[in-house]
Amino acid sequence: MSKSFDVIVIGGGPGGYVAAIRAAQLGFKTACVEMWRDEDGKGRLGGTCLNVGCIPSKALLESSALYHKAKEEFAVHGISADGLKMDVAAMIGRKAEIVEQLTGGIGQLFQANGIEWIQGKGKLRANKKVEVTTHEGAVESYQAQKGVILAFGSVPVDIPVAKMDGKHIVSSTGALNFSEVPKRLGVIGAGVIGLELGSVWQALGAEVVIFEAMDTFLAVADQQLAKEAARAFKKQGLDIRLGTKVKQALVQDDQEVHVSVEDGSGEQTLVFDKLLVAVGRKPNTSPDLIEGTKVVMDARGFIEVDEHCRTAEDGVFAIGDCVRGPMLAHKAEEEGVMAAEILAEQAGHVRYDIIPSVIYTHPEMAWIGKTEEQLKAEGTDYVKGDFPFAANGRAKAMNAASGFVKILCDKDSDEILGAHIIGPCASEMIHELMVAMEFYAAGEDLARIMHAHPTLSEAVHEAALAVSGAALHKVNPKRK
Ligand code: FAD
Ligand code: NAD
Repeated sequence: MSKSFDVIVIGGGPGGYVAAIRAAQLGFKTACVEMWRDEDGKGRLGGTCLNVGCIPSKALLESSALYHKAKEEFAVHGISADGLKMDVAAMIGRKAEIVEQLTGGIGQLFQANGIEWIQGKGKLRANKKVEVTTHEGAVESYQAQKGVILAFGSVPVDIPVAKMDGKHIVSSTGALNFSEVPKRLGVIGAGVIGLELGSVWQALGAEVVIFEAMDTFLAVADQQLAKEAARAFKKQGLDIRLGTKVKQALVQDDQEVHVSVEDGSGEQTLVFDKLLVAVGRKPNTSPDLIEGTKVVMDARGFIEVDEHCRTAEDGVFAIGDCVRGPMLAHKAEEEGVMAAEILAEQAGHVRYDIIPSVIYTHPEMAWIGKTEEQLKAEGTDYVKGDFPFAANGRAKAMNAASGFVKILCDKDSDEILGAHIIGPCASEMIHELMVAMEFYAAGEDLARIMHAHPTLSEAVHEAALAVSGAALHKVNPKRK
């Protein structure tokens, strides 16, 4: 007889563990199957995000930015930091401690919510059965009465021209654990990971060259924001080479990596101590995970779902990085909540049109909704209001007065259609716009809300005022 639960979740990343917690809150007897193990055999919850993704990368971004600030900016404040040193082992140790605390915290939440953590590899079988191969090799069978939520997550994409060896040619996981600052770091891919982890090591003193295949920098972002970011990165010394194809990367003498690249001007070979491959992620799926069920996987390994994350198999949902949409932890979490609530016959729902994007570099970038390029392409008449941090008192006081807030509103209805921030604390400020857009607010709604002075958020207020040409702390452009 197989053990029975109301809901079984496969995968304990931000999609899966959140789905399990919500299911348990809703009164379901819940289990979560998670196979993650450290080298020493210790099982871990939290998935990519907590173990090798969002959290460790932000820990290193914080440490490296502080070091960089102490080195380059303290003097402006009249502080001298002679003899400044960076202890990489201590930085990595701090990161590991944060990961330890947070992953352990998920275990405690599971206990408190009565969720059973089944350690091993889970596979979906027909009629909501789940087969688990334990780390010891035993095969166990479980029955879900109400539903199964698949949250397999994702893994880095590898490319044949730069085979990862985990030592010299690494994925993001390797670049989170360098034991010393590489003198020369090559990065393939100027996407989110390339920029964030490239920035970490560049701030600590590495010479960083990023090779990007596309001719456009940050093609997914609003191009005014992308241009401002490109300028800032160039000033910092990040060498971003667009339209560059990596032909071959070879480790020489177990010491350095020789990278042959081709761009419009021809071919050349560059030498690095480490090479980070950051060309995207792919779903962590394979056909055996869904064998004998009606669940469909597309050619790229994504599990096919509808807008409510339902698969073709009755009572089976799939969420997070293993389904369509941006590979983001907050998107995975919201889908987990939605799936659990639908299983409880509630009205689970995700607003896919307003998923915030954030890049945690310095300066930070955050955006939501439509870009100017998208609005132009779809022929929407819009009005733009923007405001530079150079005119914001708090940003000046913080020595961080660059970048801007831009808000795009529908020309007729004034509804906010998109917002783009580059500058200090952009990741936090975007949520004011998020709330406004969730409630379909107009630019004027935001413009009429008082904002505390002096705050960075006043730049959001001023950008909202600028939509109607009423910004107070800049000269408004003449309207046609
Ligand atoms: P995952 O987090 O990948 O979790 C899936 C889990 O399922 C894993 O623990 C895996 O072991 C387990 N699993 C898979 N198959 C099975 C199976 N058959 N049986 C049992 N267990 C299984 N996103 C952000 O929003 N913000 C960020 O700042 C951010 N930074 C990132 C930085 C880096 C370096 C990386 C790599 C990613 C980052 N991401 C960030 C992306 C984010 O980590 C993912 O979008 C998020 O983790 C997806 O959650 P998930 O639950 O779908 O999958
Ligand atoms: P990405 O899709 O953001 O960027 C990959 C980049 O590599 C793209 O610009 C692409 O054009 C380029 N590229 C692809 N093949 C190439 C090649 N052969 N040579 C040169 N360039 C090439 O992917 P990523 O940076 O690996 O991140 C993976 C996922 O993780 C993303 O979907 C992202 O959403 C998520 N993530 C999010 C955050 C965040 O929210 N702050 C941080 C890190 C990762």
